[in-house]
Amino acid sequence: MRISYSSLEKFRICPLKYKFSEIDKLKEPSRKELVFGSYLHKVLKWFYQNDPHFPTLDQLIDYYYKHWPKESEGFRWTDEKEEADYFQEGLRILREYYIKNIPHQSVILDLETKFEVVLNGNSSQADDKHILTGRIDRIDKLPDGSLEIIDYKSNKKVASQAEVDKNLQLSLYATGVKNRWPKIDVEQMRLSLYFLKFNEKMETRRTSEDLDNAIQEVLDVVHQIEKSSFEPRPSVLCQYCGFRSICPVWRHLYEKKSKDLNEVDIEKKIDEFFELQQQKKEIEQKLRDLRSLIDVYASQRGLKRVFGKNGYFTKSVSNKISYNWEEVKKILQPLGKWEKVLEINQRKLQRILKELPPEARKELEKARIIEKEYKYLEANKKSIEEIKEILKD
Ligand code: SF4
Repeated sequence: MRISYSSLEKFRICPLKYKFSEIDKLKEPSRKELVFGSYLHKVLKWFYQNDPHFPTLDQLIDYYYKHWPKESEGFRWTDEKEEADYFQEGLRILREYYIKNIPHQSVILDLETKFEVVLNGNSSQADDKHILTGRIDRIDKLPDGSLEIIDYKSNKKVASQAEVDKNLQLSLYATGVKNRWPKIDVEQMRLSLYFLKFNEKMETRRTSEDLDNAIQEVLDVVHQIEKSSFEPRPSVLCQYCGFRSICPVWRHLYEKKSKDLNEVDIEKKIDEFFELQQQKKEIEQKLRDLRSLIDVYASQRGLKRVFGKNGYFTKSVSNKISYNWEEVKKILQPLGKWEKVLEINQRKLQRILKELPPEARKELEKARIIEKEYKYLEANKKSIEEIKEILKD
């Protein structure tokens, strides 16, 4: 299997999104933020191609102006103001970037360089061989002779140092570079994420062991993909997914309403369900209020039973029983029955999971098996307007 960091992320976000994109090869419609981000990449690539005769700031702005992305199939600005805002934001980013980074102190070794690394899986099967692919925005040679890998980010937030230190993408890029130049010392390599909107570069390093762990992480995901049935995993990230109109979770929102009179008016039925659910809630609250009023009435009069025309209430006491487990053990152990009491309890396992070291958690994750599949229909009360607001449709 060929796998890249971005396809691996797709699978982690949602197996169905991965399937649409990587197996069915469907093209995801571009989002403005992505078009804008890749345009900044393109401008910076052009800028650095001219190393060591870098364009002036005016030339850079001129290039930015002339090649500004045109609207295309699946990509439209909402209005002129939105396009102007993005354009101005790009100008600001490039100006600030230029001021901070020029004169350039290192040598550009490569731009948007592609790599492929063969990964051998742990299993003895011949087909457990995979290819990790990727494209690195920039590789620089620093004045001290070491290498720096730089990936531009147009995120709305700068990652924390802790996040950068365990960023899988950088570990995989370092793996790609090490594969190309096997003699380089991984620990001397500087790995950087450049957050363009904030003009901030976050740096980190990796050890050879970190790279081995990253490869293992990729292989774990590859094995999950191989076993996957690609079920959709709806989450807040659906708002950024370009496959909503064909995804079974959201498709119904986008389907044209049928004019067939014999067909069930499902919208009406769903609304009816929520109305009844609301009535049920109100009735349940009323029942709770009545029950507590009757209870108070009976207590105040010292009555154990109170009567109405159609029924009566009885006050009674029951105890929740527990045992002195030390004593129980002493009694049951000689009879050989103690082990039967200690049955495996999944809920307790879930509870202690967070207390376990990451390695043990990973091992437990692998030991999971699907015993039975439950299909259920979950009801969520949210109006179409609220949903459209979340999806920004
Ligand atoms: S819309 Fe959500 S659930 Fe559907 S494919 Fe995309 S990410 Fe998955």
